[in-house]
Order: sequence, then structure tokens, then C-alpha cells
Amino acid sequence: MNEPDTIREIRDAVARLCSDFPGSYWRELDATRGYPDAFVRRLTEDGFLGALIPEAYGGAGLGLTAAGVILEEIARSGGHPGACHAQMYTMGTLLRHGSQAQKSAYLPGIASGELRLQAFGVTEPGAGTETTAIRTFAERRGDRYVINGQKVWISRVEHSDLMLLLARTTPRDQVSRKTEGLSVFLVDLREAAGNGLTVQPIETMMNHHTTELFFDDLSVPADALIGEEGRGFRYILDGMNAERILIAFECIGDARFFIEHASAYASEREVFGAPIGRNQGVQFPIARAYADMRAAELMVHEAAGRFDAGESCGAEANMAKLLAADCSWRAGDTCLQTHGGFGFAREFDIERKLRETRLYQVAPVSTNLILAYLSEHVLGMPRSF
Ligand SMILES: Cc1cc2nc3c(=O)[nH]c(=O)nc-3n(C[C@H](O)[C@H](O)[C@H](O)COP(=O)(O)OP(=O)(O)OC[C@H]3O[C@@H](n4cnc5c(N)ncnc54)[C@H](O)[C@@H]3O)c2cc1C
Repeated sequence: MNEPDTIREIRDAVARLCSDFPGSYWRELDATRGYPDAFVRRLTEDGFLGALIPEAYGGAGLGLTAAGVILEEIARSGGHPGACHAQMYTMGTLLRHGSQAQKSAYLPGIASGELRLQAFGVTEPGAGTETTAIRTFAERRGDRYVINGQKVWISRVEHSDLMLLLARTTPRDQVSRKTEGLSVFLVDLREAAGNGLTVQPIETMMNHHTTELFFDDLSVPADALIGEEGRGFRYILDGMNAERILIAFECIGDARFFIEHASAYASEREVFGAPIGRNQGVQFPIARAYADMRAAELMVHEAAGRFDAGESCGAEANMAKLLAADCSWRAGDTCLQTHGGFGFAREFDIERKLRETRLYQVAPVSTNLILAYLSEHVLGMPRSF
């Protein structure tokens, strides 16, 4: 892809950093369910995790394309960007809708690595994909909000200092539109854990540090509210588009990892006295995966470009995530098939990467929901739910 020099330099610098964290590093964490502390620290110290934080607050002041390329390179190198990507996609909500006081209080610490904003609390067991059906409730009492409810699948809470939380501040049956009456809070997890917030880890098929949260009269100061009360759904929509685009970049990185490994192995592994890659039955699926990846990449960059230009990008963000997640999953399956039995051996990292990339068919938004969005909002077909 024809890239500006600055993007190419970022890509190369991240690739160099990642070479200090090889497959064995990620395999060990996967086996022990550990958090990549050393990697996240390095990524922060080298200025990459603060990519989206303005320079005035100690960040790099870059756009979403640059941030996406950072995550893509981590994935391409064989690493797992899911361990730290939330700091990037939550940033827009705080930057665009946070008060001056909130930004001054938190952004410099996040940029320096002193504070981590790695948790985004939206999903609930009773609501699922229907975000406006969430029931976690924040009730204003004097100069505080008291929060009660439950969340599920909230990742990295145990490794984060701060969490962006979506809660109802007006019951759904008292608002004229169900998207109203939702508010966003910046919760200080260091104060909350054990004082009204209980965190319960969930074991999953990949190393994702995800948890269930129980709020039992958690009291937060009123100035934890981001923007205006009741307008939180609008605030997080922007963040959701950023999240979809950034995860699409990760999927492109995963697809590149699989394609590079598949083509290298197909060229060197000899069976019947010749490299297996000489057989078109082996090489064509890899070539197809490459073409799919390049096509998806165009949509990912289109979506990020529109986001950076402040243009509407809902359709593009959704399509980028859909196409990139599909191509990484298919490339992973092809890579495993190319490796035959060795694809199942942990030391090749393929089975681990395949487990990691599978998530993106479901989270942060599942394939069906993207297709429903395109059907209704882009193609004008009847609303299905
Ligand atoms: C490992 C992991 C980490 C996560 N991290 C976070 C996090 O940090 N923060 C957070 O807030 N959330 C997080 N999530 C939640 C994630 O965003 C949700 O799992 C996802 O949005 C799907 O919601 P659900 O699981 O409730 O599925 P459901 O909404 O219950 O849907 C189940 C299935 O039914 C399909 N479906 C539902 N309704 C329709 C319909 N009308 N038409 C067609 N198909 C439909 C869906 O596509 C899906 O395949 C995480 C999830 C996982 C698994």
C-alpha cells in the first residue's frame, strides 16, 4: 500500500519494538493467562499507546489511521493487541466530550503510563447487543452518583486504573427515545474495587482478561460524569466507530501474520519430494486470502480516513470490521490447513492467533448486527428489530 512516510516510519518502529516480544512471550502469557505488562509498558514508554492523546497532554497527537497501524503491526508480528487496544478506542469519548478538568486530570498520566484507561463497560447479561436495554443505573444523590447493576464481558478491568462506564440515569420507560437517558462515567477503579464494585474473572478460549462486574451502591463523585447527563449513548457511538475501525486494523494484521506464515511454510515444507506450495491446491487459498486482505484493507483505510476527517463513517466502520474479521478468520483457517498437523502445535502460534482472531466475528459487534445495520441504514430495507 502506498503510505505516507510518517505511517511507514510508525509501522517500522512498532515492528522493531515487537521483535523484542516474540511468539514465546505471547505463548507463555496465553498458557498462564498473564497480562503483557512489560509489553504495554514499552509500548507506552515509546509513545505508541498515547498515539491519540494530543501533544498538549503528553501524547503523540496522531489520528486513527496511525493508531490503527500500530495495532496492525502488533498483530502482524504475532502479538495480541487485544491486551491494550481499549486505551485507543475509549480516547475519543474523553477527548471530545470530557471537561477540561477531566482531561487535565487524567490525560497526562495516561500518556506517561502512570494511569491505564483500558476498560470500557457497556455489555450486560440482560441486554446483549441491545445496548439501550442496559439496566445498570446511576442515581444522582447530592454531589455523587450511586451505581447499581451488573455488566458482563468487561475486559482488562483488573489491569486498568480507569473505566469508561455506560449506565442509565433515567429509566427506559421514562424517556421518549430509548437512546436517551444513558450517561457515561469515568470510574476510578482503584477506589471502586472492593467498595461497591466486585470483579469476577471469566475464563475464555483466548487470553483476554475479561470479567463480570457487580455494582452494589458504588458511589462515584458527580464530576465522574462525562459531558451532559442523559446524552451518553451519542458520546459512545463515536467511540464504537473508532473501536470497529481499530479492531479491523488488528484483523488485517492477523491476516498478514497468517498469510506470511502460510506462504513461508508452503515454500519450505517438502512432501512427495517437492515444496507443498508448488501444488495449486495449497497456494491458491493463500493467494485468495491475500487478495481478500488487500480488499478489506482498502475499506479499513477508507473508514479511518473518514473518521480522521470528521466525516460520518458508520457504514464504513461497520464494513471495515466485517470484511477484515472475515478475511483474518479465513486466512487463519488457510494457514492452519497449510501447516497440516503442525498448525495445531502451540509452538507455531497459529492456533493461538486463530483463537484470538475468532473473537472479532462476535465482538465488539457481531456479524449479523453489521449486516442488519447495512440492510436498514444503507440499503433502506425494513428494520428487522
Ligand atoms: C472476550 C470478550 C471480550 C469482550 N470485551 C468487552 C468489553 O471490554 N466491554 C464491553 O462492553 N463488551 C465486551 N464484550 C461483549 C461483546 O461486545 C458482546 O459479546 C457482543 O456485542 C455480542 O453481544 P452478546 O454476547 O450479548 O450476544 P447477543 O446479543 O446475545 O447475541 C447472540 C447472537 O445472536 C445474534 N443476534 C442477536 N440479535 C440478532 C438479530 N436481531 N438478528 C440477527 N442476529 C442476532 C448475534 O449476532 C449473536 O451472534 C466482550 C465479549 C467477549 C466475548
